[in-house]
Amino acid sequence: MKWPLSKKMETSLLTCVIHTSEQITMYCADHSQLCCSICFELNHRLCLQVTPLPQAARGKSTNFKNLSVRTENTLSQMKQCQTYQEDRMMSLKVSYKEHERLIVDGLRVNIVSYLRECETSTVNTTHEHMQYPISEMREGIKNLLADFEKSTIKEKKEELNLKQAPLKVLRNSCIRLHYELFHLHVAIPKVLGKPELSFIASKKCLENIQQSDIFIKENFSNHVFTVNGKSVHNVKIPSDSYTCQIKAVCALPNGQVLVADCYNDKVKLLNQQYQVVSHLDVRDEPWDMCLITPTEVAVAMDYEVQFITVSQSQLAKGRKLKLQYEGTGIAHNQGDLYICFGTALYKFTLSDKLVSWLYGDTSADLTVYKCAVSPTGDRLYIIGRYRQHKLLTLARDGTLLATFTDITLLRPLGLHVTPAGQVLVCGHLSNTVLQVGWKGESKLATLATQEDGVWWPASVCYSSTTSSIIVGQWGDDNILVFRVE
Ligand SMILES: [Zn+2]
Ligand SMILES: [Zn+2]
Repeated sequence: MKWPLSKKMETSLLTCVIHTSEQITMYCADHSQLCCSICFELNHRLCLQVTPLPQAARGKSTNFKNLSVRTENTLSQMKQCQTYQEDRMMSLKVSYKEHERLIVDGLRVNIVSYLRECETSTVNTTHEHMQYPISEMREGIKNLLADFEKSTIKEKKEELNLKQAPLKVLRNSCIRLHYELFHLHVAIPKVLGKPELSFIASKKCLENIQQSDIFIKENFSNHVFTVNGKSVHNVKIPSDSYTCQIKAVCALPNGQVLVADCYNDKVKLLNQQYQVVSHLDVRDEPWDMCLITPTEVAVAMDYEVQFITVSQSQLAKGRKLKLQYEGTGIAHNQGDLYICFGTALYKFTLSDKLVSWLYGDTSADLTVYKCAVSPTGDRLYIIGRYRQHKLLTLARDGTLLATFTDITLLRPLGLHVTPAGQVLVCGHLSNTVLQVGWKGESKLATLATQEDGVWWPASVCYSSTTSSIIVGQWGDDNILVFRVE
């Protein structure tokens, strides 16, 4: 940092970012852009406030301290974003390795049992004559197996590469943006006292920060929501006997919303204006609900999961998945169904097959109350209900990665992960809606509180179609809708 500005750095500062063989000679205040002569010819001929660089830089002082803080903040976010993409790539790799092993193991078992069958039946008939065919058969099957292993592995590798490719592109963009900004950050203290270079460095720095901010907003799950509006909508219908208790909210891609009303044993469909347009009575209290396809949800209840389809603003009951215990929470990701049973989390396939036990805590009741899963399936989030003021983050295999506790998160009840991977959780007793970082380690923002009308929140969901966060409450006929950016 103490070294003076190198010639190379000076040249790079003076070079146009778009036309790398040209030097910056002008500044357009209309576009807030540094221009070379080509830039000027192409885009700024009609601009009114184009001035030569020395004139533009004269008398302009930049608040370098302020800029430096912003730069450092963006640099750190970029690094985090890079780690995030690398983490997703690694997690994909691990899951593919596991998948591959299972397929090969399965095939091996089948072939061995088949061979055994052949051998037994052959021994029972004419032992001597069949001796050769068996060894032949064994040889043949061995070859088949080798081929299968080879082709499966090849196919899986290709699939993995294909899925990793977009993440790699994002990771590389992070590295490039970080690199460019870091160079400017280093250059700035060295150009103090040189007005033109200072001017260029600060403008380039700001431009880079803006670019990085847009990139982070689009690609990083730690992009923090800002709330810029609120509305309240009544979801009580005439056939309701009790005050509503909205234990789950699910936003459909078409902008419609489903709410699970626990006190009235109903699942209600809301249109884009949040009016109830249809409802379905369910057998028992609906505890939780998740999206399976754009027109199908799964509702977790006592001892069963009820699938419900939505078509033309009507709800219809589909198949059921019988459970051995009370299902308190449910989440879905790419064919994997995660179900909470109060004190344990299990993974199922959509075709009702139990895959594995993932996590458990029997130290109290409802320690594993609700769960949510990241878009890539590499992070699972869990909340407990009583005296469990924490959000747990698990790896794909159930390993505990992080525990989050905070005074603004008392008795978390509602939990949701957005399609971009942002983690939302509400504190039932603290009357809060929070956004937590994707690693599940820290709070990024308190999005809404009691002052915004949050009172005993019980569920939360983000709709990317309407860019809003919907909050369902306990003993309240109204739902809250926060417009966010
Ligand atoms: Zn240019
Ligand atoms: Zn211009």
